[in-house]
Amino acid sequence: MDWLASLASPDGKLLGIDWSVWKIVGWLGNFVFFSRFVVQWYETEKRGRVVVPAAFWWLSMLGSLLLLAYSLRQRDSVFIFAYAFTWIPYIRNLVIHHRHADAHVDCPRCGQSCAPQSNFCPGCGTALVAVGADAVR
Ligand SMILES: [Zn+2]
Repeated sequence: MDWLASLASPDGKLLGIDWSVWKIVGWLGNFVFFSRFVVQWYETEKRGRVVVPAAFWWLSMLGSLLLLAYSLRQRDSVFIFAYAFTWIPYIRNLVIHHRHADAHVDCPRCGQSCAPQSNFCPGCGTALVAVGADAVR
């Protein structure tokens, strides 16, 4: 247990860091922001192709907002500018993600969610009837 006691220095700092509520906010922001890479990597390995899940953008937004709050508290203009505008592409990507998800078609035979404008279900091969297909005939 000496190693645990050695983490705290005699001046009360843990790992050499003077902890406060704002330090916790900043480190939590770092942790949340970093966790997005783990989520994206996991999804990519699971599916065998590069995937950016919606959770990546939510974690990006939450982490950057925490880091922005911390940087505002620290009054660090470089750090503030780094996180002041990152929420814009995060929200835009979430909007596009949800629009794309809503455009998926459920297969009437097996229930699999099929990509927008699919002609056939990749799961069972059932022909998917697109909305407005009768007008083409
Ligand atoms: Zn199907």
